[in-house]
Amino acid sequence: MTTRKDAPPFDERAFDFFAPVGAEVPLLIDSPHSGRSYPDDFATLVPERVLRGAEDWMVDDLVGDAPLEGASLLAARFPRAYIDPNRRLDDIDPGLIDGPWPTPLNPGPKSALGIGLVRARTNDGAPLLAGPLLAEALRARIERCWRPYRRALAESLHGLHARHGAVWHLDLHSMKSFGTAITPDGPGVERPDMVIGDLEGQSCNPAFTAFVAEQLRALGYSVAVNDPYKGAEIISGSGRPADNRHSLQIEMKRALYMDEATITANEGYDKLKADLRQLVANVAAWTRKAKAA
Ligand SMILES: [Zn+2]
Repeated sequence: MTTRKDAPPFDERAFDFFAPVGAEVPLLIDSPHSGRSYPDDFATLVPERVLRGAEDWMVDDLVGDAPLEGASLLAARFPRAYIDPNRRLDDIDPGLIDGPWPTPLNPGPKSALGIGLVRARTNDGAPLLAGPLLAEALRARIERCWRPYRRALAESLHGLHARHGAVWHLDLHSMKSFGTAITPDGPGVERPDMVIGDLEGQSCNPAFTAFVAEQLRALGYSVAVNDPYKGAEIISGSGRPADNRHSLQIEMKRALYMDEATITANEGYDKLKADLRQLVANVAAWTRKAKAA
């Protein structure tokens, strides 16, 4: 579909995994929405620039130095508009599937907005798909993309927990700088630099949320907690604080690093990337201390 340098051709790999360089800490960073390898069978009604507004553009690269600080890094290669690994498999509008589906569907509020398992609407609420997907095609997306990604995530977290007795997980995203017609804060509302979400204290120890918020503020960012984004399926499925599994979602305001209209880096890109490396280093140090405590 595209030959842009930042959009490699689609291949069979659902994700990239980068192991730590040097001593491992019990910290996984995942970027489920930065995939930009568009499959040939992906047809949409909208121009590339609108479609690509759905990506958490280049978040995998922004946090690409994490392995140098001892963290593991997992990043999806497939685009979230193709299938979203941060949604339940049954969070899909039955009207989007052409043909019988073998298991019950349970479309939630995200599906109602057109941003369920399969993206049906643009950020402005306009239709994105020409028509429903063949059931077989949806099944193929699940098997080729959704399952391998979620399996890699679960296995990585499981391995770290098994080796260290505890695991911390940052689920990294970027958000449009202003709310839209389909977001909880509504159109035109400017976001803070960072929104961190722990499902109102359910996906990690509150001390971890407070630590990350404090680190981000020390780096000069404005931070909101659980407002307007509390976190979604990935941290809900991964975080079990009672079992020493701590998952936290971070949404970064896109204006910090990109021009959202042209989907290009702005002058803030390198600073954000350096700050994220610093954040990962500080969180890595926290995990070493918390483990020893
Ligand atoms: Zn995202």
